[in-house]
Amino acid sequence: MRCKVSILGATGSIGQNTIDLISRDPDSYDVVALTGASNIAQLAHDAIALKADIAVTADETLLEDLRDALRGSDVTAAAGAAAVTECATRPSDWVMSAIVGAAGLAPGLAALEQGTTLALANKESLVCAGALMLEAARRSGSKILPVDSEHSAIFQALIGEDMAAVERIIITASGGAFRDWPLEDLAGATLDQASSHPNWDMGQRITIDSASMFNKAMEVIETREFFGVLPEQIEVIVHPQSLIHALVGFADGALMAHVGPPDMRHAIGFALHHPDRKHLPVDRLDLAAIGQLEFRAPDDERWPALRLARETMQAGGMAGAVFNAAKETALDGFIAGQINFVQMAEVVEDTLAHVCATDGHIAATMTLDTVLQTDHVARKAAQAAIDKRAG
Ligand code: NAD
Ligand code: MG
Repeated sequence: MRCKVSILGATGSIGQNTIDLISRDPDSYDVVALTGASNIAQLAHDAIALKADIAVTADETLLEDLRDALRGSDVTAAAGAAAVTECATRPSDWVMSAIVGAAGLAPGLAALEQGTTLALANKESLVCAGALMLEAARRSGSKILPVDSEHSAIFQALIGEDMAAVERIIITASGGAFRDWPLEDLAGATLDQASSHPNWDMGQRITIDSASMFNKAMEVIETREFFGVLPEQIEVIVHPQSLIHALVGFADGALMAHVGPPDMRHAIGFALHHPDRKHLPVDRLDLAAIGQLEFRAPDDERWPALRLARETMQAGGMAGAVFNAAKETALDGFIAGQINFVQMAEVVEDTLAHVCATDGHIAATMTLDTVLQTDHVARKAAQAAIDKRAG
């Protein structure tokens, strides 16, 4: 039976890796919807090549461009955030959630409410609204399959295990572009330097988040939300080679590690074929050539993001939505040259303190609307913190 798939964020790094896998086995898949934003040429090319029913750009001003690019094909064009969410609800067996940022929340949630299996790369939706996502999946009986490499690794290490026997979960961090830089140089890090990852080839935003450790901070919260463990059961270890993706420690002292090359097609393919395992075109590791695996404790001074994640989990409620919105806004400020690399964490810290102290948002009942309102309030507070620093 052919599997009906949709890819949200099809033009990005995860989206393109997903397309690479399904394109290798065209007889197994019917593509329902592909979504993108500004890269209309890529979106149209892939939608035509994969014979998608519909292609959607999140940018309404680009609808005519998309129509032009699709002319002569049978692919329908649509545009705007509502159209992205609508296409996520079209009957599919499997939806890849690979939009970057909080914009991925509504469409992923809509797919879950339909009962569709959601392959979840968009970590922001779990950080902002983990309880909402899990509740939607529980109600409709849909599955969430984690695609973040660490969470796919944990998920795999837990197959057949009893959560009651889990003592701890250890997620690895490469340490990103600046793990060996002198601390005093970090404030002068340029956008180009922050946008180059030592091991993984990813979108620009997550690459910068890896250098600042905000990516790992998000993943700690993601781990807590998805696997339901306590914050104190989650550890981060710096592992510069990115070959071990995560480890699960059990009551008997055993550690189950997931080891593989830094290639997202493993986690995507695992989610695509679940519950089966099928051949994937990823490198096989040569352990003798690797020789040694290296680990170090994360440095709190270099990476304040990890402490901020702990404070966010401690605050609970909707602090995750504040954390994510502040982080996204601070990242925009760094990309725009308004603040330096070190100031991103300061902006997040100020925003958390401000929103947690002055508004009732953290304690509000979590719905899609209250999460989006909190996201809006936090973005404004973060922008004010940026403006203060930009002078
Ligand atoms: P990317 O920047 O390469 O691609 C992002 C995609 O989202 C593009 O298709 C873009 O068109 C779309 N998009 C951007 N803004 C949008 C908006 N406002 N509305 C709708 N669509 C929009 O990002 P990526 O690296 O592929 O990451 C995607 C998600 O997966 C992120 O949440 C990231 O944290 C997560 N993730 C990525 C990797 C990786 O290896 N790249 C690994 C783990 C998790
Ligand atoms: Mg990851």
